[in-house]
Amino acid sequence: MNLNRRSFIAASTLAAAGIALPARSSLARLLPSLTLADTYFEWKSVADGCHIAIGEGGNALAVLSGNETVVIDSKNGGFGEALRREAAALGSPVKTLINTHHHGDHVGGNPAFTKDLRVIAHANAIARIPSQVERSNKSAQGAIAKLKQSPKATATQVIADIEALLQSSPTDKNFLPTESIPSSGNITVGNLSIELYHVGAGHTDNDLIVYIPDRNILHGGDLLFNNMYPYHDPANSGADSAGWIRSCQKIIDLCDNKTVVIPGHGDVGDLTIAKRQIEFFTALREQAAKAFAAGATREDFIKTEPEQFKSYSSNMRPITLGGLYDEAKKEAGK
Ligand SMILES: [Zn+2]
Repeated sequence: MNLNRRSFIAASTLAAAGIALPARSSLARLLPSLTLADTYFEWKSVADGCHIAIGEGGNALAVLSGNETVVIDSKNGGFGEALRREAAALGSPVKTLINTHHHGDHVGGNPAFTKDLRVIAHANAIARIPSQVERSNKSAQGAIAKLKQSPKATATQVIADIEALLQSSPTDKNFLPTESIPSSGNITVGNLSIELYHVGAGHTDNDLIVYIPDRNILHGGDLLFNNMYPYHDPANSGADSAGWIRSCQKIIDLCDNKTVVIPGHGDVGDLTIAKRQIEFFTALREQAAKAFAAGATREDFIKTEPEQFKSYSSNMRPITLGGLYDEAKKEAGK
């Protein structure tokens, strides 16, 4: 957290209270004790000018470059305004949003960005994002009750954001990117070159790996789940576990031992997250194929608890094992 951000948040709070504001630098001096508790999201600095916002959906990354900020992923429905506001408070206005893929916990906040900013996603996301609009709006509505119970002072503002959003009845166009890329490509944000890689279907058919060489940081979207069962849903997301392994290999190829790696869900780490994701799918693809060949039913297989991944948080285990079973069946030509 830097002084600019502290003073911005202090300024917002005081302005809301109708208090006249001294200059930024003196404000920071006057209020030196403001902490991360002043933001709705938990923000963590992970590399030079790079901060992640934790909670309310997938991990979002804000990267400051020159006089602008680029945000990667927009969280659950209703939380886009808070994300944009707090990312801008890190120092510079947000001018670009990148979506790593179409799932609602990564594009739900898009309406706060698409209204006047550049929003970039893979071309295949365009056909898939409309399937997430209802989910996102419902999720925004459902968040209000929880926010009312929140001890965070900033929750009141988020409730107001959501009420204004729902009043506007957001539709597909509010969630869709303003630009799409058909495969891999580079974009420039401020003085940074941002590399976007699409390695075919993996977690979805529109995954983008976001790599910023100047900061040695990579956001893998939901190609990476750290210490938890991933969400693997070939039936609805265009996912492909063999392709997922190839995408993780690309992540490893891009990284050195110092690269900061942001998973879609779970703690930030390094390239070992991608290595473990490959181990996961390699082992469970094999187990699914064996189970299918041995005559196990889908119901049998989704009830199994693979020993190797017992420590992983397992909310997604039945969905993921079901997806792997379906793939094994298809690969066996049945
Ligand atoms: Zn996802």
